[in-house]
Amino acid sequence: MTGTYTLQSTRARFNKSEVDPTCCIILCNCAEETMLHFLLECTVLDIVRKPILSDIKYEVNLLSRKATKLWDEHSLEEQVNISIDCTSLYKCDRMQAERLEGVEFQCKRLIFSLHNERYRHLKLSDKTSKTKLPC
Ligand SMILES: [Zn+2]
Repeated sequence: MTGTYTLQSTRARFNKSEVDPTCCIILCNCAEETMLHFLLECTVLDIVRKPILSDIKYEVNLLSRKATKLWDEHSLEEQVNISIDCTSLYKCDRMQAERLEGVEFQCKRLIFSLHNERYRHLKLSDKTSKTKLPC
């Protein structure tokens, strides 16, 4: 939420020529590792992401009966923003506030689980290569 999570694109921004912004070779290695890529697109993290996104979609779609759009009607950028801070969905309704807690829980679960899975891949790579991280 504070923009302090360090992805390859962040590292590249601060180390211009020394760091490749592409998602690590131990992950998908097929696109710039931005927040959108990390949260919604990196195929290596799909196994963790898909069931949780399904839960987020369910919770957001319950909310949408009140005032907001369905999950799939949000742009990818909006989905990233909701995943990081779902309060943008809040429309001052007591029932909705209770439902929003469900969205928030699932979004925190998504970010925590993706972080753990990404870290697990990078750590495994570190142990097998006995060198620095491959990215
Ligand atoms: Zn990736």
